[in-house]
Amino acid sequence: MNDVKERPVARSARTEHTPHLIRKIGVVGAGQMGNGIAHVCALSGFHVLLNDVVPERITAGLATISGNLARQVSRQRISEEQRQTAIKHITPAKALDELGDCDLVIEAATEKEDVKRKIFGALCPALKPEAIIGTNTSSISITRLAAATDRPERFIGIHFMNPVPLMELVELIRGIATDDATFEATKQFIGKVGKQIAVSEDFPAFIVNRILLPMINEAIYTLYEGVGNVEAIDTAMRLGAHHPMGPLELADFIGLDTCLSVMQVLHEGLADSKYRPCPLLVKYVEAGWLGRKTQRGFYDYRGERPVPTR
Ligand code: NAD
Repeated sequence: MNDVKERPVARSARTEHTPHLIRKIGVVGAGQMGNGIAHVCALSGFHVLLNDVVPERITAGLATISGNLARQVSRQRISEEQRQTAIKHITPAKALDELGDCDLVIEAATEKEDVKRKIFGALCPALKPEAIIGTNTSSISITRLAAATDRPERFIGIHFMNPVPLMELVELIRGIATDDATFEATKQFIGKVGKQIAVSEDFPAFIVNRILLPMINEAIYTLYEGVGNVEAIDTAMRLGAHHPMGPLELADFIGLDTCLSVMQVLHEGLADSKYRPCPLLVKYVEAGWLGRKTQRGFYDYRGERPVPTR
């Protein structure tokens, strides 16, 4: 009986906050995802503070945003005025304590749990109490990351896809403690940046990467076992399955370190040998051949056109 009485009380306690207005966004990590997130937020009228532990990454991120906005102007997707306004909306932030007046901070740093935990430890004391923290993690438990903050109820997975300005989807993942106000405010925010939502439960790698990464890992096994070379595997999937990119080309685009981290999270989190990361993927990451971002992965990007490395 007690249980039955308590349920409505717990529910109303979850919904008592009205969704708060999000105006200013902090983005932590200015790599390929962070700069893409900053780009779409600024273009949608939000003020953005862009942070990275490596200051040069912020400069490089701003240059990438500027180049991508210019391309959008040349393709007549946006006006020159929109481009200029978007650029003005982004401010570099060298330290996390500069994010103090953000309404939402999206963490888009390296896919390593200890890196993310350290960021939340340093970030939380700087934030106002009502600020929401989102993480762009591809695979790590939202509930576990939330527990590393002072606000698990205002913590949520906001998983943008790569490249952010072009991809329509954002996966939204609630941790066990995420409250309704946070979920609603985040949903509204994603609508304002012009993306569609798919809601995923908090299980390793969520929906898209639970399906996509084992396919990429299998393509790497196909290479490792000599079934086909890089060119044959990518051609087979592009022309034979109508994928816009071959799986190895896609792995290079995602970043082989990120691919390996996602497979490790799937393997550890679901304890099923079908998720075992391919030893060849491990070898490429150990070599520092991380794909496009280091100019070498399953292809070598240092010349005029990509050349397969196997
Ligand atoms: P990236 O390697 O391009 O960028 C990561 C950035 O994080 C780097 O600039 C690095 O300097 C920065 N960083 C590391 N430690 C930091 C710290 N303590 N404080 C601030 N910045 C720090 O990686 P990415 O591809 O942009 O991935 C970022 C996140 O987005 C990861 O969680 C990844 O899983 C996720 N993600 C990636 C993709 C993809 O296709 N690459 C897609 C969706 C989500």
